[in-house]
Amino acid sequence: MSVNLAGAGTRIDIQNVTKRYPTSIAVDDITLRIEPGEFITLLGPSGSGKTTTLNLIAGFTDLSAGSVEIDGVRVDDVPAHKRGLGVVFQHYALFPHMSVAQNLAFPLQQRKIPKSTQADLVRAALETVGLKGYDDRFPRELSGGQQQRVAFARAMVFSPRALLMDEPLGALDKNLRERLQLEIKRIHQEVGRTFVFVTHDQEEALILSDRIAIFNEGRIEQVGASAELYETPTSLFVAEFMGESTVLRADVNANGHGWSMDFAGTTIGGTRPSQIQGPGAFVLRPEQLRVAANQQEVPFGADSVPVTVVQNIYLGSGHKYELRLADGSTGIVRSPREMSVDVRPGDDAFVYWAGGDGVLLEDTRTPAMA
Ligand code: ADP
Ligand code: MG
Repeated sequence: MSVNLAGAGTRIDIQNVTKRYPTSIAVDDITLRIEPGEFITLLGPSGSGKTTTLNLIAGFTDLSAGSVEIDGVRVDDVPAHKRGLGVVFQHYALFPHMSVAQNLAFPLQQRKIPKSTQADLVRAALETVGLKGYDDRFPRELSGGQQQRVAFARAMVFSPRALLMDEPLGALDKNLRERLQLEIKRIHQEVGRTFVFVTHDQEEALILSDRIAIFNEGRIEQVGASAELYETPTSLFVAEFMGESTVLRADVNANGHGWSMDFAGTTIGGTRPSQIQGPGAFVLRPEQLRVAANQQEVPFGADSVPVTVVQNIYLGSGHKYELRLADGSTGIVRSPREMSVDVRPGDDAFVYWAGGDGVLLEDTRTPAMA
């Protein structure tokens, strides 16, 4: 017996949505189109408005301004239980006095699904989350990971149009979290529905998502595929949130042919035209940088700046170098083994990079955060 949970995905349109509280603006004029069947993650630090956004989609919170449409229909006045969305929270929120099967049947009873169909749907949902045969257990007889699987099954059992998840793996230990990440990804591929996932964990977002929306102080800074956010961030906030980086900060001189900056006594620059005048931040990823023990070993044509070695860490596949830059900031380099250089803590050295690498951004970091 199999019940088909698969179905076409649902489009969710968030347009100029704001949520104001008497003391704060939780979500500040965000616009986001979630495509049918995609796995999108709302990623950002604590307090950036992710949960509020999810609650606005789910209908647990009402809008101060803007609109939410599901498959082209405005749902501002549609109560949560009539929006046809499945929701999973960080804390499993299972009914403790009900068995696993009863927990799963609950949303089906609410939706007046015939009794005869209920058993099949419950069985199929349990199978999807790898808990076949657990029907008669009670939540207290299950581990945290198993309880969260039941919560997933309960959110999916009525074939919701989309599944919304708010940090669902946040309470689990690292190993279990990694296992469930892969399972959630597999389930998404199997059911082909729209998944909206909230996390503050950048690595988790990279593993799961087709696209990521980066939240910062109630606004969306950038939306894109992981590689796009990592390789072409449009703001310093996104660049620093999406993985390790070395940031060279100084005033920028730009014209139609390129740009340059005087970074603590060394002139560096690029040939890409830039609009930036004034405070700039040149961002380099750890794998774009190499270490040279002295300036003679910097390849011809590469840009370089002097550094002091803080740490040289052997990682098996290569080395990670932590460096102090001339302005006191920290640089991170990851080199494959064949490019490793024998430098020690306290040594003077250079970091260099190829001409076209790195991204020049406006320096928006406030002095207080520096
Ligand atoms: P996140 O999920 O990204 O951590 P939230 O959406 O929970 O962020 O919160 C965003 C901001 O809105 C926070 O500053 C939070 O304090 C505020 N906020 C959220 N809910 C309420 C509320 N019910 N009353 C007042 N402020 C709230
Ligand atoms: Mg939250």
